[in-house]
Amino acid sequence: MSILVVGSIALDTIQTPTGKRVDALGGSATYFSYAASFFSKVRMVGVVGSDFPKEHVRMLEKRGIDIQGLEIVDGKTFRWSGSYDGDLNKATTHRTDLNVFGAFKPKIPASYKATPYVFLANIDPDLQRDVLRQVRRPKLVIADTMNLWIDIKRDSLVQLLRDVDIMIMNDAEIAQLTGEHNIIRAARKVLSYGPSYIVVKKGSHGAVLIGKSEFFSAPAYPLAELHDPTGAGDTFAGGFVGYLASVKKADRLTLRRAVIYGSVVASYNVEDFSLERLKKTKKADIIKRLKEIKKMVSW
Ligand code: AMP
Repeated sequence: MSILVVGSIALDTIQTPTGKRVDALGGSATYFSYAASFFSKVRMVGVVGSDFPKEHVRMLEKRGIDIQGLEIVDGKTFRWSGSYDGDLNKATTHRTDLNVFGAFKPKIPASYKATPYVFLANIDPDLQRDVLRQVRRPKLVIADTMNLWIDIKRDSLVQLLRDVDIMIMNDAEIAQLTGEHNIIRAARKVLSYGPSYIVVKKGSHGAVLIGKSEFFSAPAYPLAELHDPTGAGDTFAGGFVGYLASVKKADRLTLRRAVIYGSVVASYNVEDFSLERLKKTKKADIIKRLKEIKKMVSW
């Protein structure tokens, strides 16, 4: 089944302990779409400026991502610049130049309105809510956010959560949103706002899936070398939602499997900058790591 994603499309300038890239393809919708398209059809809604390299548009099209919802407008593409310190779990933002993204009002094409799976990638929660007003009741709504929106748009985010089935956040964000540092208490609070499940990402420490009567802990695939964690969260979400949409189910076991798929796709993404590693990844590589994780956690 198809997935509709609305999010950022960016040119990222990134410094990590092992290298640097200037104006590399990034953005929450980009990473998500590429990752989800290992499993399902993706329809992308976002905006870029007239300076956005055509080769990126061609790459997305070649990948089979539906870009009918990609607006190309006069002006400069959104740019984000950040760096990572030693443990690579936390990004430091240096610059956020919204450019054409600053005036972005998602317009969901008529042909996208009945898409069964909707992923609201990290954008202003006011816009995320506006997307939900434009679509017909989807089968599943999954959303992501970031510290900025918890800081400046908390009420809107809490409103959004009423209409979200599965919320994906990292451990710092869930603590910031709920004021709880205990992950169980924090997750219960988020569930009380509306979602049936929350997935808490913990960087290199894996992810947990928490529901009213569900707790599942998944490891991150162990990597001795990683080069750029940018997009780890979005590619995790891409693997997670992409898999769910491909099997058309959302029972407990399926959700658990989806978490592992998310972890595996993210593990490939962080092995290189931008989409460089994912472009070389095949479905068979994903299955291989999935099996390795299965062995790692059984006793
Ligand atoms: P993550 O998966 O959390 O590492 O997301 C990384 C991506 O988020 C980068 O490619 C950035 O372009 C994008 N990003 C950074 N800041 C924002 C923002 N304020 N709104 C939307 N996307 C952003």
